[in-house]
Amino acid sequence: MHKHHSALGLASPSIIPVTAVDGAIDIAKRTPVQPVTLIRPHAAARAARFFVEKFPGRSMYAVKANPSPELIATLYANGITHFDVASIAEVRLVARTVPGATLCFMHPVKAEEAIAEAYFTHGVRVFSLDSLEELEKIVRATKNASDLTLCVRLRVSSEHSKLSLASKFGVAAHEAKPLLFAARQAADALGICFHVGSQAMTPEAYAEAMERVRLAIVEAAVTVDVIDVGGGFPSSYPGMEPPPLERYFETIHRAFESLPVSYSAELWAEPGRALCAEYSSLVVRVEKRRGNELYINDGAYGALFDAAHIGWRFPVTLLREPQSTVRDHPFSFYGPTCDDLDHMVGPFLLPADVQAGDYIEIGMLGAYGAAMRTAFNGFGSDETIVTTDEPMVSLYADIEPKVANNVVTL
Ligand SMILES: *Cc1c(COP(=O)(O)O)cnc(C)c1O
Repeated sequence: MHKHHSALGLASPSIIPVTAVDGAIDIAKRTPVQPVTLIRPHAAARAARFFVEKFPGRSMYAVKANPSPELIATLYANGITHFDVASIAEVRLVARTVPGATLCFMHPVKAEEAIAEAYFTHGVRVFSLDSLEELEKIVRATKNASDLTLCVRLRVSSEHSKLSLASKFGVAAHEAKPLLFAARQAADALGICFHVGSQAMTPEAYAEAMERVRLAIVEAAVTVDVIDVGGGFPSSYPGMEPPPLERYFETIHRAFESLPVSYSAELWAEPGRALCAEYSSLVVRVEKRRGNELYINDGAYGALFDAAHIGWRFPVTLLREPQSTVRDHPFSFYGPTCDDLDHMVGPFLLPADVQAGDYIEIGMLGAYGAAMRTAFNGFGSDETIVTTDEPMVSLYADIEPKVANNVVTL
């Protein structure tokens, strides 16, 4: 047994859960009372190798998407050596999980104590910022260090993404000049970073953001050593099937090459979702059926936060042997807590004869699923099992969908 929600707390000595199965159906046959988290290390390894081999720069994993130590270790073993961390707890977690890794503290608003511990205890040298106040804080906390890489976060549009990151952080391109200038004075290496929003559905999002980077560089007339295009690389969900990731990489490469600093600057990216979405899924039990509503044993306060709060759709499969031959039907889900908010509209397509006692696999929960889990009301999954079968959908492998209409766009 392995508790995901302790990932950021106490050290968890065992990194890889020991039990392994060949597929979700094996779990259903055990009739577990609690939801079971399935993990697919081979899928995360494949995603890591894809970015390492094909992204035309350095890929660092954005830990907030899924902070499971066993995932971090898998990505590291497959070539991801740099990690984007956003809190001191994430810094400590990655530092003790993969001691050889390089950490980049990419939250633009940090506690001064966190900066100091990151710098002096964990060897962190890369920090992001979007204000002069934060710059002063970093300089103070590191005692005027001369070996800093400082990345100025630009505000860019989130219009092509499913989840906006446009309003909270970032300095507008036309206001960036004084900050770039001041950061240049304090930094050993100066970077510009941005985030186009999560699940960016078109490569154009990056092309447009890079145009703002170009304007900022030209206006400030500073030398820039790092261009960091952030996260936002999509995964595949029902109704949200993106173009191939190679197209994103080509667009970014072209835009980077056209920047006035490309001859000397490094290109970085901070993928979160794309590296871990295929990594895990969840096996849940149907406790009750009321018309087209299924009451399942995980929900808004478990791994299904996004399904409940932002209407995210995940692929689902009914785990029954023999398989149901009944036609698919759209269902919505209720989670187990005593709270009306614990509702997931979906629609989730399942055979129309699904009933209480059935088990369902909910796929593509590796990103922002396990990471958001709480133990509210005493519910949750506490068992994690490795499975060797393929995820329901993959951007990295040609796999036959297990149930063809799982991923149909409604
Ligand atoms: C959340 C976040 C990421 C990862 O975003 P994805 O959309 O999951 O790729 C990367 N960088 C920063 C600064 C973030 O806040």
